[in-house]
Amino acid sequence: MSNKTLAIIKPDAVGKNVIGEIVAKITSAGFKVNGLRLIKLSAEQAGMFYEIHKDRPFYGELIEYMTSGPVVPLALTKENAVADFRALIGATNPEEAEAGTIRKLYGDSIAANAIHGSDSDENAANEISFFFRSNELV
Ligand code: ATP
Ligand code: MG
Repeated sequence: MSNKTLAIIKPDAVGKNVIGEIVAKITSAGFKVNGLRLIKLSAEQAGMFYEIHKDRPFYGELIEYMTSGPVVPLALTKENAVADFRALIGATNPEEAEAGTIRKLYGDSIAANAIHGSDSDENAANEISFFFRSNELV
């Protein structure tokens, strides 16, 4: 099992000025930060990142939202990283997320849900290399 995952603090959460609070929750949960950037995605980059969703009805809305402001990708390490991080962020829809999860605390809607977390070890590796060169990671 891999011990890596990729998070993205999404535009709604960056816009609410809660980058620090969210990073604190992540590090308090035992994740180590190996890489961190603040960037504004182009539509092309967002489209590539979410290509698996290109046939879903919300794809256009998703790309528009993910390019609406800066985002903070983080490369993270912890034992059981993918599953533990998905538990820390909560359900996709913040209304259905458990109390204390990042999406419950900071998400506004199923679209603007504050944070992304990789859903498999394979996707984690691909997503980390999407945002970080290996020589940039600590
Ligand atoms: P993420 O991949 O961002 O961590 P997730 O794995 O919980 O989220 P996915 O099914 O992969 O959920 O959906 C990717 C993203 O697309 C969601 O985080 C959300 O921003 C958006 N999304 C998902 N479902 C909807 C929907 N029904 N309407 C609008 N946006 C949606
Ligand atoms: Mg997903």
